[in-house]
Amino acid sequence: DTTHGRILYLEDVHVSFDGFKAINGLNLDIAPGELRCIIGPNGAGKTTMMDIITGKTRPDSGTVFFGSTIDLLRHNEPQIAQLGIGRKFQKPTVFEQLTVFENLELALKTHKGVKHSMFFRLDSTQSDRLAEVLHTIHLAGSVHRMAGELSHGQKQWLEIGMLLMQDPKLLLLDEPVAGMTDDETARTAELFLRLKGQHSLMVVEHDMSFIATISEKVTVLCDGSVLAEGTLAQVQADERVIEVYLGR
Ligand code: ADP
Repeated sequence: DTTHGRILYLEDVHVSFDGFKAINGLNLDIAPGELRCIIGPNGAGKTTMMDIITGKTRPDSGTVFFGSTIDLLRHNEPQIAQLGIGRKFQKPTVFEQLTVFENLELALKTHKGVKHSMFFRLDSTQSDRLAEVLHTIHLAGSVHRMAGELSHGQKQWLEIGMLLMQDPKLLLLDEPVAGMTDDETARTAELFLRLKGQHSLMVVEHDMSFIATISEKVTVLCDGSVLAEGTLAQVQADERVIEVYLGR
């Protein structure tokens, strides 16, 4: 079993758009509980890679497995979300007219497919989980505030909290600290380190100092495949990576 001990496994994945190879022989392996950072210049294929994992884009060829048994290419986008892959886009999309509590509750209801939400009450396990998530996302003191009143960073955390209410095994996060203050960035690092272990995380990020605070392993994408992989120090010292970042 070649996929043993992996939460995500991509092998020789290819995608072309009108003959342009956006993903060109991509291989990737994420271990359970790992926090992986993905970097790479614009156009490297980072977004397309996440689109493939979440079922938004179908590859032309290759293998995409979730765990050792689930072939993601046999599932569509909503099924993949239900399987436990949560994705957060760069811009926060919380419900501004609802409170922090209501946003988290709504995320749970959506996940559970609750139809008559007027009669929905959290059971004690769900209440405990919500309280735990509130603590994790640094919003325990803001439960009854309207989401629209939160700072940009707090909205980002709330959206991560909404994903957590759906018990994801793998979280894909696109530039999570973009636009955050230094303090919010530091607290986001703390949040990710808390999530690591219980969840696997894939973080696409440009902020190298943020990556330095959270990461064990960094993957550098370029021209639709992996250019380098290792610790941040290793990839930053790699001649090919330097060349790509300093302009070819
Ligand atoms: P990144 O997120 O690393 O900046 P992308 O995955 O967005 O890179 O894009 C990789 C390449 O594929 C880019 O050159 C982009 O222009 C191209 N591309 C992405 N999506 C499409 C599409 N739907 N149609 C045509 N070209 C696309």
